[in-house]
Amino acid sequence: METTLVLLKPDTIQRGLIGQIVSRFENKGLKIVGMKMMLLSDEIVSEHYDFLADKPFFPGIKAYMTSAPVVAMAISGSNVIKTVRNLTGATNPAEALPGSIRGDFALTIDANIIHASDSAETAAVELKRFFKDGEITSYEKISDKIVG
Ligand code: GDP
Repeated sequence: METTLVLLKPDTIQRGLIGQIVSRFENKGLKIVGMKMMLLSDEIVSEHYDFLADKPFFPGIKAYMTSAPVVAMAISGSNVIKTVRNLTGATNPAEALPGSIRGDFALTIDANIIHASDSAETAAVELKRFFKDGEITSYEKISDKIVG
Protein backbone atom coordinates (compact mmCIF):
# COMPACT_ATOMS: atom_id res chain seq x y z
CA MET A 1 0.00 0.00 0.00
CA GLU A 2 1.47 3.36 -1.05
CA THR A 3 1.27 6.66 0.84
CA THR A 4 1.56 10.10 -0.75
CA LEU A 5 1.91 13.69 0.44
CA VAL A 6 -0.71 16.27 -0.47
CA LEU A 7 -0.57 19.96 0.43
CA LEU A 8 -3.70 22.08 0.23
CA LYS A 9 -2.03 25.37 -0.62
CA PRO A 10 -2.87 28.76 0.97
CA ASP A 11 -5.45 29.69 -1.70
CA THR A 12 -7.46 26.56 -0.79
CA ILE A 13 -7.62 27.75 2.80
CA GLN A 14 -8.36 31.38 1.83
CA ARG A 15 -11.18 30.33 -0.48
CA GLY A 16 -12.81 27.97 2.02
CA LEU A 17 -12.29 24.91 -0.18
CA ILE A 18 -10.63 22.54 2.33
CA GLY A 19 -13.73 20.39 2.79
CA GLN A 20 -14.52 20.10 -0.91
CA ILE A 21 -10.98 19.03 -1.80
CA VAL A 22 -10.72 16.55 1.10
CA SER A 23 -14.06 15.08 -0.07
CA ARG A 24 -12.57 14.30 -3.48
CA PHE A 25 -10.07 11.96 -1.83
CA GLU A 26 -12.62 10.43 0.54
CA ASN A 27 -15.11 9.89 -2.28
CA LYS A 28 -12.44 8.11 -4.32
CA GLY A 29 -12.03 5.59 -1.49
CA LEU A 30 -8.56 6.70 -0.40
CA LYS A 31 -7.56 6.66 3.26
CA ILE A 32 -6.38 9.80 5.05
CA VAL A 33 -3.70 8.69 7.50
CA GLY A 34 -2.27 12.08 8.49
CA MET A 35 -3.58 15.65 8.38
CA LYS A 36 -2.49 18.94 9.92
CA MET A 37 -2.57 22.67 9.31
CA MET A 38 0.79 24.41 9.33
CA LEU A 39 2.29 27.77 8.45
CA LEU A 40 5.33 27.10 6.27
CA SER A 41 8.69 28.77 6.80
CA ASP A 42 10.81 30.15 3.94
CA GLU A 43 13.24 27.30 4.65
CA ILE A 44 10.78 24.45 4.16
CA VAL A 45 9.38 26.05 0.97
CA SER A 46 12.92 26.48 -0.39
CA GLU A 47 13.66 22.82 0.35
CA HIS A 48 10.37 21.59 -1.10
CA TYR A 49 10.76 23.57 -4.32
CA ASP A 50 14.58 23.54 -4.56
CA PHE A 51 14.36 22.39 -8.21
CA LEU A 52 12.68 25.73 -9.04
CA ALA A 53 15.16 27.95 -7.16
CA ASP A 54 16.60 29.54 -10.32
CA LYS A 55 13.21 30.27 -11.92
CA PRO A 56 12.08 33.90 -12.16
CA PHE A 57 8.77 33.00 -10.50
CA PHE A 58 10.43 31.40 -7.44
CA PRO A 59 10.12 34.50 -5.17
CA GLY A 60 6.42 34.54 -6.04
CA ILE A 61 6.03 30.87 -5.08
CA LYS A 62 7.72 31.56 -1.73
CA ALA A 63 5.47 34.53 -1.00
CA TYR A 64 2.38 32.52 -2.00
CA MET A 65 3.27 29.39 -0.01
CA THR A 66 4.00 31.36 3.18
CA SER A 67 1.04 33.78 2.88
CA ALA A 68 -1.38 31.61 4.92
CA PRO A 69 -1.37 28.08 6.35
CA VAL A 70 -1.38 24.92 4.26
CA VAL A 71 -3.09 21.65 5.14
CA ALA A 72 -0.65 18.76 4.85
CA MET A 73 -2.19 15.35 4.25
CA ALA A 74 -0.76 11.84 4.13
CA ILE A 75 -3.04 9.68 1.99
CA SER A 76 -2.85 5.92 1.51
CA GLY A 77 -4.36 3.54 -0.98
CA SER A 78 -3.69 1.24 -3.86
CA ASN A 79 -1.72 3.13 -6.56
CA VAL A 80 -2.33 6.29 -4.53
CA ILE A 81 0.51 8.35 -6.06
CA LYS A 82 -0.73 8.02 -9.63
CA THR A 83 -4.37 8.20 -8.56
CA VAL A 84 -3.91 11.43 -6.59
CA ARG A 85 -1.88 13.03 -9.42
CA ASN A 86 -4.72 12.17 -11.81
CA LEU A 87 -7.32 13.60 -9.43
CA THR A 88 -5.13 16.73 -9.08
CA GLY A 89 -4.80 17.44 -12.81
CA ALA A 90 -2.19 19.31 -14.86
CA THR A 91 0.11 21.86 -13.16
CA ASN A 92 -1.38 24.69 -15.23
CA PRO A 93 -5.10 24.85 -14.42
CA ALA A 94 -5.75 26.13 -17.96
CA GLU A 95 -4.68 22.67 -19.16
CA ALA A 96 -6.22 20.66 -16.30
CA LEU A 97 -9.25 18.66 -17.39
CA PRO A 98 -12.68 19.47 -15.98
CA GLY A 99 -13.38 16.93 -13.24
CA SER A 100 -9.84 17.22 -11.88
CA ILE A 101 -9.27 19.33 -8.78
CA ARG A 102 -7.24 21.99 -10.60
CA GLY A 103 -9.61 21.75 -13.57
CA ASP A 104 -12.60 22.47 -11.36
CA PHE A 105 -11.25 24.88 -8.74
CA ALA A 106 -8.22 26.78 -10.12
CA LEU A 107 -7.66 29.29 -12.88
CA THR A 108 -3.94 30.16 -13.00
CA ILE A 109 -0.62 28.43 -12.36
CA ASP A 110 0.19 31.10 -9.74
CA ALA A 111 -2.55 29.70 -7.50
CA ASN A 112 -3.11 26.07 -8.41
CA ILE A 113 -4.43 25.10 -4.95
CA ILE A 114 -2.79 21.72 -4.42
CA HIS A 115 0.50 19.83 -4.37
CA ALA A 116 0.78 16.05 -4.74
CA SER A 117 3.95 13.92 -4.78
CA ASP A 118 4.90 12.74 -8.25
CA SER A 119 6.72 9.46 -7.52
CA ALA A 120 7.31 6.92 -4.75
CA GLU A 121 10.80 8.35 -4.13
CA THR A 122 9.50 11.91 -3.88
CA ALA A 123 6.59 10.85 -1.66
CA ALA A 124 8.96 9.21 0.85
CA VAL A 125 11.09 12.36 1.10
CA GLU A 126 8.10 14.74 1.19
CA LEU A 127 6.20 12.79 3.87
CA LYS A 128 9.26 13.05 6.13
CA ARG A 129 9.53 16.75 5.34
CA PHE A 130 6.01 17.56 6.55
CA PHE A 131 5.25 14.85 9.15
CA LYS A 132 7.27 13.95 12.23
CA ASP A 133 7.62 10.36 13.45
CA GLY A 134 4.32 9.21 14.93
CA GLU A 135 2.16 11.79 13.13
CA ILE A 136 1.12 9.38 10.37
CA THR A 137 -1.37 6.85 11.68
CA SER A 138 -2.07 3.28 10.74
CA TYR A 139 -5.60 1.93 11.05
CA GLU A 140 -8.04 -0.36 9.35
CA LYS A 141 -10.89 1.32 7.55
CA ILE A 142 -13.99 -0.78 7.01
CA SER A 143 -14.29 0.46 3.41
CA ASP A 144 -10.77 -0.83 2.58
CA LYS A 145 -12.40 -4.23 2.17
CA ILE A 146 -14.92 -2.82 -0.27
CA VAL A 147 -12.78 -0.55 -2.48
CA GLY A 148 -9.64 -2.70 -2.36
P1 GDP B 1 3.26 20.13 -9.85
O1 GDP B 1 3.99 18.86 -9.45
O2 GDP B 1 2.10 19.84 -10.77
O3 GDP B 1 2.85 20.98 -8.68
O4 GDP B 1 4.27 21.00 -10.75
P2 GDP B 1 5.84 21.37 -10.63
O5 GDP B 1 6.53 20.44 -9.67
O6 GDP B 1 6.38 21.47 -12.02
O7 GDP B 1 5.83 22.86 -10.03
C1 GDP B 1 5.67 23.07 -8.67
C2 GDP B 1 4.80 24.30 -8.45
O8 GDP B 1 5.51 25.46 -8.89
C3 GDP B 1 3.50 24.33 -9.25
O9 GDP B 1 2.45 23.60 -8.63
C4 GDP B 1 3.20 25.81 -9.30
O10 GDP B 1 2.64 26.25 -8.05
C5 GDP B 1 4.60 26.41 -9.43
N1 GDP B 1 4.94 26.64 -10.84
C6 GDP B 1 5.42 25.75 -11.74
N2 GDP B 1 5.63 26.34 -12.94
C7 GDP B 1 5.27 27.65 -12.78
C8 GDP B 1 5.27 28.78 -13.66
O11 GDP B 1 5.63 28.71 -14.84
N3 GDP B 1 4.83 29.97 -13.12
C9 GDP B 1 4.44 30.07 -11.82
N4 GDP B 1 4.02 31.27 -11.35
N5 GDP B 1 4.43 29.03 -10.96
C10 GDP B 1 4.84 27.83 -11.44
